[in-house]
Amino acid sequence: MKVLLVEDNIELREMIAAHLDGCGITVDALATAEEASEALSLATYDILLLDLGLPDGDGLDLIGCIAARPDFHLPIIVITARDALSSRIEGLNAGADDYLVKPFDLAELQARIHAVLRRPGERKSGTLGCGDVTLDIASRAAFVGDQPLDLARREAAMLEELLRAAGRIVVRDVLEERLYSFNEPVTPNAIEAVVSRLRRKLELLGSTTRIQTKRGIGYRIGIEPDQTT
Ligand code: CA
Repeated sequence: MKVLLVEDNIELREMIAAHLDGCGITVDALATAEEASEALSLATYDILLLDLGLPDGDGLDLIGCIAARPDFHLPIIVITARDALSSRIEGLNAGADDYLVKPFDLAELQARIHAVLRRPGERKSGTLGCGDVTLDIASRAAFVGDQPLDLARREAAMLEELLRAAGRIVVRDVLEERLYSFNEPVTPNAIEAVVSRLRRKLELLGSTTRIQTKRGIGYRIGIEPDQTT
């Protein structure tokens, strides 16, 4: 899962980003409306956490821009101060899915994120699977059959992306964008290394689910072909 966080208060931004990061969520944390617009044109996010009072504009304008694009669906949770909120409930109703009043508990934020993503039509929560491999999106718990699959955060994120596209190729650039935030350097073989570790862990548990490399393109998760035919 990848979150775009837009909050100009650096302490709050870093605190939220660190908490979500600790939950295995990839976070792009930005401070201005302009940076947010640019990020939305470059990357794909599962949810936007948006402060309304930004140094270069109003978060509501950004919500308006997003709501005006019918092809572009992005759940939004507004995070704002109480006085800013009271006068803007109507505006929020125009496009935000939920809001949190500062100060809020980080566990509450996490719960709201999963609640918004659980809504019908989002299909961003629940369990993903392919063959004998399953992954619970919210808890990051993965299994091969009934055996727990112990995954590091990027391995879990990789598995999530591959399972979402089970049977189809996921392009390497898309994986890079989904697994890493803007400020994390991605070494040339980083994605291949994550895939290798994930593959090894699946094999160790005797999984019949395989991650195939499509050289120069990307990766695909699928069930091992029947060797007898
Ligand atoms: Ca602010």
